[in-house]
Amino acid sequence: MNVTFWGVRGSIPTPGAETQRWGGNTACLEVRDGDHPPLVLDCGTGARRLGFKLLGEAHRELDLVFTHLHMDHVFGFPFFVPIYTPGYKIRVTVPSYSEEEAREKLARYLNGTYHPTRLKDLPSEVRFRPVRPGREFQCGAFKVQGIGLNHPGGSIGYRVESNGKSFCYITDTAPFARPGEGADAGEVPLLAEQKVIDFLRGADVVVYDTMYDLGEYLEKMTWGHSYPEYAASLCIAAKVKQLILFHHRPNASDDDMDRIERHWAAFKDLHVTVAREGETVSLEG
Ligand SMILES: [Zn+2]
Ligand SMILES: [Zn+2]
Repeated sequence: MNVTFWGVRGSIPTPGAETQRWGGNTACLEVRDGDHPPLVLDCGTGARRLGFKLLGEAHRELDLVFTHLHMDHVFGFPFFVPIYTPGYKIRVTVPSYSEEEAREKLARYLNGTYHPTRLKDLPSEVRFRPVRPGREFQCGAFKVQGIGLNHPGGSIGYRVESNGKSFCYITDTAPFARPGEGADAGEVPLLAEQKVIDFLRGADVVVYDTMYDLGEYLEKMTWGHSYPEYAASLCIAAKVKQLILFHHRPNASDDDMDRIERHWAAFKDLHVTVAREGETVSLEG
């Protein structure tokens, strides 16, 4: 299994000279295993380039799974060319209670007001599937399990398994508490987060929302984004092999990202890397 980052930025796309090396597109990941059809996680602005790449392949089907529908995770959907390709089969999984609700949520965006395309006019075969936290479902070759996260309006994190490898995608989420609160030993995560530790247990790779540093997090505790020390403590407790920091804050320049990467490369207790747009991470090594 391998994972390609097509968008790594949180909240808003940040094109420009200061983000050229790390990327300014918002959340979109491509998960592949062998020749199986792709699994796409979130459809931020990074999905635009992914769509062009997929059209060059033989597949004419894919799964698209949303964590939630905040703009940074859905903005690329009307620019994702498979949806305009006749015969392309796209199964869209959306946090919701029913197929109708899932469809209606995206139809609010593609309705002629916020975008000229109307969902009902798409020439591809788009089907919808609702998902609730705790559910397990199949996306082609991938077994996927969801967990409810702490985020305004909610978000679902996913654990993806295939051929004995496991990958977790945990964004947008926050502990909603000060470091140490509700914990026994200061660096141990909140007891309420035990369910997240259980969910991450033994994963090969975990991608985690670490938009803030600790100082920003303390100022914006209820905004629904985490910080690297917190994600690392969860991953260490869950015996995860590699943590990838993700959902970078819009104001982080390439130089800021270099500093974050250097800092975490020196961390001894866990293999921590930083998501960079265009990079592919292999789980096979
Ligand atoms: Zn987001
Ligand atoms: Zn969000």
